Amino acid sequence: MEQVIIMGGGPAGVSAALYARRGGLDPLLIHHGPGALAKAECIENYYGLERPLTGLELYERGLSQAKALGIRILEAEVLEIGGFDTFEVKTTAGDFETVSVILATGSKRLTPDIKGVKELEGRGVSYCAICDAFFYRGKQAAVLGNADFALHEAELLSQTGVGVTILTDGKPAEFSRKTDLPVLTGKVLSVEGTEKVTGVLLEGSEEPLLAEGIFVALGNAGSAEIARQMGAELNEKGNIKVDDQMSSTIPGLYAAGDCAGGLLQVAKAVHEGAVAGLSAVKYVKRKK
Ligand SMILES: Cc1cc2nc3c(=O)[nH]c(=O)nc-3n(C[C@H](O)[C@H](O)[C@H](O)COP(=O)(O)OP(=O)(O)OC[C@H]3O[C@@H](n4cnc5c(N)ncnc54)[C@H](O)[C@@H]3O)c2cc1C
Repeated sequence: MEQVIIMGGGPAGVSAALYARRGGLDPLLIHHGPGALAKAECIENYYGLERPLTGLELYERGLSQAKALGIRILEAEVLEIGGFDTFEVKTTAGDFETVSVILATGSKRLTPDIKGVKELEGRGVSYCAICDAFFYRGKQAAVLGNADFALHEAELLSQTGVGVTILTDGKPAEFSRKTDLPVLTGKVLSVEGTEKVTGVLLEGSEEPLLAEGIFVALGNAGSAEIARQMGAELNEKGNIKVDDQMSSTIPGLYAAGDCAGGLLQVAKAVHEGAVAGLSAVKYVKRKK
């Protein structure tokens, strides 16, 4: 059983790991490469930088620092977190049980620029299979995405009795395992429907593919998707709702950095990571 699993290797996740480690825990940090920092050409407004660094340099320094302190780092994608008293973290590298979890996956809810997606959100377009699968039992639905997260969502729908097709929207299917579910790789031109989703039009097809639900699952599972799957509350902006100890509405589940909303800056992510790390230390010690 792990004491704390930290999901995210950016400023918030690494800071959480450093404080949890210094607080006496043996954290496991799981990340899937750089997040927002990969896009930052130049960071010069963070404390202690005598010359600007690229976002990637800062990211690599953070991970090296964590490794130097003996923090265990696993490169994998977290697909789902479940459990009641303790948490079960499902990843592309296996499953782990843990007493507490810190979500630090940055801010991301990838919305595809496809006609009909924004307009039909909440009326057939969903971002969470586990939340909404039930409504589509016995119906046809499509999952939009080409990586393991999309496959995971499609399998969940299929297990719930939904007839599901995966649409990769012109991208190659990059699943790490085989699937019997139908996969269509054509470009998606539009999500059809006026009041509710009725289908999806693919390039080269005259008739839309029949689908009453479209589940968007682009890229990785983000914190908001995972938190929502777990039943944690989100705020009105769709970020994870946290208190001043970075605790979510689920005991033992914390969130820090961009995924908690507010100022999207390294300094704020590092601060919140530190608070979340210390909160996890107190929680794990109380649970002993
Ligand atoms: C173009 C640009 C320029 C910027 N410039 C500045 C600047 O000059 N100064 C400044 O202070 N800030 C800047 N920022 C903002 C800064 O990069 C972010 O605020 C900061 O990186 C947030 O840290 P974080 O740890 O919350 O998230 P991120 O840095 O986004 O890290 C998220 C981590 O979560 C991991 N992850 C996500 N999903 C999964 C999953 N399913 N499984 C496992 N791991 C997962 C990712 O792999 C990554 O390691 C900039 C951002 C951008 C985009």
